[in-house]
Amino acid sequence: MINPTHLEAYSFFGLHKGPSLLILGGIHGDEICGSIAIKNINKLLVNKDINILSGSLTMIPVANPLAARLNTRNGERNLNRNFYPKKNPKDFEDYLNNVICPIISKHDIILDLHSFKTGIKPFALIKSIDEDHSTNIEIHGQNIKLYEKTLASWLGIETVVGNWTNTYEKGVMRRKKMQNVEKGHLNLDKRYGMGTTEYSRLNGAIAVTLECGQHQDPTSGDNAFNAILSVLGQLKMIEKKRYKSKISNIKFVKLYNVFDKNEFNDRFLLSWKNFDPIIKNTEIAIRANGEKIRAPSNCCILFPNKNALPGQEWFYLAENL
Ligand SMILES: [Zn+2]
Repeated sequence: MINPTHLEAYSFFGLHKGPSLLILGGIHGDEICGSIAIKNINKLLVNKDINILSGSLTMIPVANPLAARLNTRNGERNLNRNFYPKKNPKDFEDYLNNVICPIISKHDIILDLHSFKTGIKPFALIKSIDEDHSTNIEIHGQNIKLYEKTLASWLGIETVVGNWTNTYEKGVMRRKKMQNVEKGHLNLDKRYGMGTTEYSRLNGAIAVTLECGQHQDPTSGDNAFNAILSVLGQLKMIEKKRYKSKISNIKFVKLYNVFDKNEFNDRFLLSWKNFDPIIKNTEIAIRANGEKIRAPSNCCILFPNKNALPGQEWFYLAENL
C-alpha cells in the first residue's frame, strides 16, 4: 500500500482580529483522542453550533496519517522528534515536517493533543516552570501577554510538567561524554529533541502539550474536546455560553534528570507508572552490570519506558513543587 499523500486540516477565520490558534491531533498514530475531539469540534463549527467570532482556528486531526493507518506511535520515525523543515526530506515524517512547520509558524498558540499508555491523570507540558514562556496576542482590540502557565490552566487538568527540553539536553550532553556505549547518532543531536512545541516556541508562539489520558479511554477524547472549547472560550474566539469556564489550580512538576538505558538488560525494580512518588534512596532500577539506580532525593518518576532501547531515554525524575 502506498503511503498517504496528503494531510487534512480544518480552518476557520473570524471576521474580527484575534489570536491564531493551531490544534494538532494524532502526532502519534495510536493516540486517537485528539483526532476524535478535533473532528467533533469541526462538526460543531460546520453546523454553526459554534462560531468563530475573532481570530483564526486551524485544526489538523491526524498529523501523522501513516502512523494512524498503522495504528502505531510512529510511521517511519517519531514525528515528535527531529521536528523542523528538511532541505532533503528522506522519511515520511520529514515530508510531514515540511508541511506542518510552515503552518505552525503562522500561529500564536499551539495546542498539541496526546494520550499515554500507562498512568491515570491527564497533565500538560510547558517549556519551563521557572521562566514562564509567553507571546503577545490581541483579544478584542486589547494587546495581551499570554503565558503558557495560563494556557495550561484552561485545559481542565491539575498537573503541569515543565523543563523537559533542558533535562533532555542535559541527557544529550551526558551521552556525548560517555565512553564505551553504543551511541545512536540521533540521540547526540540536541535538535533531535525538537518536537512540535519546541519548534513552535522557536517561531515565537506559545505551545502546550496536553496528555489527555490513556490511549483507549473514551474520557481522553472528552478531555481533549473540553480543553479545545475552553481555550476557544478563554481567548474569546467563540460565544461565551458555549463553554464552561473553569480555571484549574495547578500543581507544578519540574523535570530535572533523565536516565538512559545503557544495555538491553538494564531493568526497573518496580513497574513504575507516571507520577509515582519515590522516596530518597529508593532503588528504582538495576543495570545489567549490577549497579543500582537510587532516587537522589524525594521525587516522582515520569515517562518510564521499560521497552527503551540502549542509548535511549529510559525514565525521567522530577521534583514536586
Ligand atoms: Zn504522544
